[in-house]
Amino acid sequence: MDDCPAGVTTGDALRWAARNLALAGVASPRLDAELLLGHALGASRTDLQLRWTECLTPEAAHALTALIRRRAAREPLAYITGRRPFYDLDLYVAPGVLVPRPETEGLVEEVLAWAQKWRAAGRRPLRIADVGTGSGAIAVTLARHLPEATVAATDLSPAALAVAAENVARHGLGDRMRLVRADLLAGVGGPLDVIAANPPYVPSARLADLQPEIREHEPREALDGGADGLDVIRRLLPQAAERLAAPGLLVVEIDETHGEAVRRLARQAFPHADIAIRQDLAGLDRLLRVSLDNRSESE
Ligand code: GLN
Repeated sequence: MDDCPAGVTTGDALRWAARNLALAGVASPRLDAELLLGHALGASRTDLQLRWTECLTPEAAHALTALIRRRAAREPLAYITGRRPFYDLDLYVAPGVLVPRPETEGLVEEVLAWAQKWRAAGRRPLRIADVGTGSGAIAVTLARHLPEATVAATDLSPAALAVAAENVARHGLGDRMRLVRADLLAGVGGPLDVIAANPPYVPSARLADLQPEIREHEPREALDGGADGLDVIRRLLPQAAERLAAPGLLVVEIDETHGEAVRRLARQAFPHADIAIRQDLAGLDRLLRVSLDNRSESE
């Protein structure tokens, strides 16, 4: 059945969009075309299937053309649609923040697993800090899953804090979350039970090798970790050591080439802690995990 004998159908538009994105070098042209067409039509991906032979209105065609032009210029999909799934949440995302990555979900899982034991032991509500929060992905997800915790989230960038504030509001977390414009943990008192961070960790010389979406559109200050990529973590570790309570947990996302170097830095800052490097789903070193038991140094 064809409802659109002369014009352009939803199916035609999707094929056109996917072809253009493929020519532009986009890694997943068909999926991105579906998501952008759905965005233009206000329809889910399943709705699109049902509307396959429907005629595209001139307004929808116009909107889709503009969206495809942006994506073909390798703007991240999440900036164009304004949203990104992260863990089990739908987050608001805009230029000026790093697009939340699936690897970072592993960091959230690590904290939630630790927090489960904390709760099982009947301890008081957790005091959590998320350093360099960006969109607020880590902080908001933790606050959503730990209904008694208080979460302080810092960032130096006002643009990032505005995006994070929107996510805090959308998830109704204003009473338990505090956004602080600060460098690392400056402005956040201690003691803290959990400190989480996804700091910039890409060695400066490697920025040029990143895909265009990241290199040309995502904020450099959220990626550039200095000459060896370790500038920020080097400054963060002693600040964290001053504030982390015992028992306490520090988790930091790291570059896959930094496992050994980060383990050494962490040992200097936390001589008596339990220190581990954890891998992501691709099997790459991705996380520093430092835990203090109640006999450890601070507190
Ligand atoms: N994993 C990110 C990337 O390459 C880097 C994130 C970061 O520096 N925190 O794209």
